[in-house]
Amino acid sequence: MSIQQNLEHILSRIRSAELRAGRPAGSARLVAVSKTFPVDDVKACYDAGQRIFGENRVQEALGKIPALPPDTEWHLIGPLQRNKVRKALEHFTLIHAVDSLRLAQFMDAVAQETGKRPRILLEVNVGDEDSKFGFSPETLEREWPELAALDHLEIAGLMCIPPPVENPDEARPYFRRLRELKETLSGKGGAPLRELSMGMSHDFETAVEEGATLVRVGTAIFGGRSYAPAP
Ligand SMILES: *Cc1c(COP(=O)(O)O)cnc(C)c1O
Repeated sequence: MSIQQNLEHILSRIRSAELRAGRPAGSARLVAVSKTFPVDDVKACYDAGQRIFGENRVQEALGKIPALPPDTEWHLIGPLQRNKVRKALEHFTLIHAVDSLRLAQFMDAVAQETGKRPRILLEVNVGDEDSKFGFSPETLEREWPELAALDHLEIAGLMCIPPPVENPDEARPYFRRLRELKETLSGKGGAPLRELSMGMSHDFETAVEEGATLVRVGTAIFGGRSYAPAP
């Protein structure tokens, strides 16, 4: 199967999941995760109509961004180190994985200096895994007033990577938890949270059924990754 065929297939599955959930067409948008894939693959996907691409690492993305037309939207979906914040704010339209109050405060200070108001998502460790990045749901609720007060950031929503499961349906409670957390926080000050970034190749349909507005799909579009990206 070509990248174009894969893309069409994924888009139609997203549409069916929207329909099943009674959601409007286009309310769940696809982020094509191009990490580890060469720029020619990204171009093939762009030519097939895709405009939003997700990369894990700032450095790797910087090699691809200039090769794509300017209407391409780049999202940073991997963990962000402080020393990459400036570059990230310059090149990405959405940063998905802001995982601590400290990082958010630092980004707010950099944004103030540069006069930008970047859009970010907060990563939530919905499975309460020791090994995972992200706010625990409890910490996020506790720190929310401080986060919501960061004037130079637009906190657009929440993101999660649930624990690995065999069957996509087992991920459903985690997606639901993220949606409920978004609803809880939306009533507690700050701008309304609109985005829920959740769902990957093996479980994006479940995520759409549970309210995902952004699904991050790599393997199902580009094929298997031949090497693991560095963290
Ligand atoms: C790699 C990655 C994805 C895509 O995963 P696939 O299983 O290849 O669809 C999604 N989200 C994040 C944060 C990733 O690192």
